[in-house]
Amino acid sequence: MSEHKPRSWYPETLAIHAGRRPDPTTGAVMAPLHLSTTYLRDGAAQPVAAYSYSRDGHPNSHTVEATLAALDAGADACVFSSGVAAAQAVFETLPRGSRVVATADSYYGTRRQLDDLAARGWLEPEYVDTSDTDAVARALERPTALVWIETPSNPMLRIADLAAIAKLTAPRGTRLACDGTLATPIGQQPLALGADLVVHSATKYLGGHSDLLGGVVVSRVADDAAAAIRERRSVAGAMLAPFDCWLLGRSLATLPWRVRAQCDSALRIATALEGHPALRAVIYPGLAAHPGHARACVQMRTFGAMISLRVAAGRTAALAMTGHLELFATATSLGGVESLVEHRASIEGPNTATPDDLLRLSVGLEHPDDLLADLHAALEAVA
Ligand SMILES: *Cc1c(COP(=O)(O)O)cnc(C)c1O
Repeated sequence: MSEHKPRSWYPETLAIHAGRRPDPTTGAVMAPLHLSTTYLRDGAAQPVAAYSYSRDGHPNSHTVEATLAALDAGADACVFSSGVAAAQAVFETLPRGSRVVATADSYYGTRRQLDDLAARGWLEPEYVDTSDTDAVARALERPTALVWIETPSNPMLRIADLAAIAKLTAPRGTRLACDGTLATPIGQQPLALGADLVVHSATKYLGGHSDLLGGVVVSRVADDAAAAIRERRSVAGAMLAPFDCWLLGRSLATLPWRVRAQCDSALRIATALEGHPALRAVIYPGLAAHPGHARACVQMRTFGAMISLRVAAGRTAALAMTGHLELFATATSLGGVESLVEHRASIEGPNTATPDDLLRLSVGLEHPDDLLADLHAALEAVA
């Protein structure tokens, strides 16, 4: 077994073999955990191997980065201590004063970062509905350094047309980044659609068990911009720790199967709940009624495992419903094996555009019929 990865491997195989090989010194089949922060140098003060100090890179980051790059078909992957640290590195490597066009309903933490950088004079963000390609084209009439697309967006699950937007950014020399956290590399391949970068919060599906915080930037080309992102990680001290890299690698081995099962369950649940009298809307890209459905069919391999429900009786009933659910824990985050429910408007605060009757579900790996029975019982309790 070598680190060579033929392009013909399926994601299931890449997830287990890409970048991984038995440890040559011990013969350990699975990657050993290297906790050392410092690495030997020779008489000429050169590192004897590829490592010197773990803030800049260590064997466990090296291994998991190779797997992550393969899964997104990128040339370079750089792990970070969180998803927001990964996004911050992308934003901070832009020249001062750069204009950034970003998805209006992106993850609220991303908007918080962009607004913070704007307040300190670093960036000039403009938020647009990126599911409207014409709106993106209009925003690009002014010189723009970066377009930041989150698709599906969170929690409205809007779908942006990545290939069409890449046709707008490429001739202008504008970089295109996609936050692919909700879709995962299994559901969507933004680099193949023309994006320059894909960013994931590894805290979600990639980690998959709600027990590690991490992020990754995967670059289509190993260019100066990719090197600058890596350099930014060292400058900011935003490296992912060895144990978290090891856990992430362990989780990636099952990513394709977990994600597909979770997406299948979500489609089944969304389909069963559509038209329920206690619900004003079931928002899920896999439903034909979803405005992004046709685009999702073209650009996604699965429709994701997030569902947003709008409760007909409004905010109070939505909040009450969370208390009636037995299997969906009321907690923030998504992408774990366990199902979660969250009233996003409460979390996002008074300025949020998220409707206050909306509950966001993260569908886990429990049996979908148990989850559905739980949702039916809670809906009945608040109807
Ligand atoms: C959670 C999340 C982030 C931030 O990642 P952290 O790992 O929590 O820092 C960014 N984008 C999306 C879509 C997310 O869900």
